[in-house]
Amino acid sequence: MSERLTPDSPVATKVFPSPNHGERRDGCVPDILLLHYTGMPDSGEALQWLCNPISQVSAHYFVFEDGRVLQLVPEIRRAWHAGVSAWDGDRDINSRSIGIEIAHPGHPGGLPPFPDAQIEAVIVLCRDIMERWRIPPQRVLAHSDVAPGRKQDPGEGFPWQRLSEAGVGHWIPPAPIRDGRFFSRGDQGMPVEALQAMFAMYGYGLRITGVFDEDTENVVTAFQRHFRPARVDGVADASTITTLRDLIAARSRGGAAGLTVA
Ligand SMILES: [Zn+2]
Repeated sequence: MSERLTPDSPVATKVFPSPNHGERRDGCVPDILLLHYTGMPDSGEALQWLCNPISQVSAHYFVFEDGRVLQLVPEIRRAWHAGVSAWDGDRDINSRSIGIEIAHPGHPGGLPPFPDAQIEAVIVLCRDIMERWRIPPQRVLAHSDVAPGRKQDPGEGFPWQRLSEAGVGHWIPPAPIRDGRFFSRGDQGMPVEALQAMFAMYGYGLRITGVFDEDTENVVTAFQRHFRPARVDGVADASTITTLRDLIAARSRGGAAGLTVA
């Protein structure tokens, strides 16, 4: 197929084509917006990697530190950024998402703050994509949300609050951290089952087993990175559980999610 010369989004300055893409399966259209960091010290190298056929990875958009945006893969095509992943019962996240790679050194680079210009560009790009594809705020997700055991990006330093204030993503102020009952690795029983059911209800790919196992710890950690970043330790403390409960309540009040509570 011939490469397009004009980006799908007016926010992108140009097309910088990656060969790493395929057809979206089962007629899927994008209804998830997935945010990543590159996790490499050099943005130029990260960009080259996403365009190298050897890498077998890509994203639809790439956002430089200074806010410049390139389009690597046409939005109608399936880019290869999510890998083994799950959300809200779906496992082929690449077929139903648009992926944005944000140039950032990530956890290996010590999680420096994201530059203002870069976050501004991410916001404008997300808003444009959400509007054109009618993606609801609660389906703007972190890579770590859909692949909790494997991925940490875009990390607990990512300014989700700022994005949500601009209409991008679903977020509420986290409940304060204080003493109280908590659940951690090895705990079992009905309360753990109820906790797992809440995470699954919000969308996380978690089996309800009644045992606080490694998968549960990974999901709690992913949740904290996104929604309660002050402490990311995989322990389901009162603040984490309250924040999750309030998020679910806020989402059903919002009505846009189509969440049905029996
Ligand atoms: Zn990622």
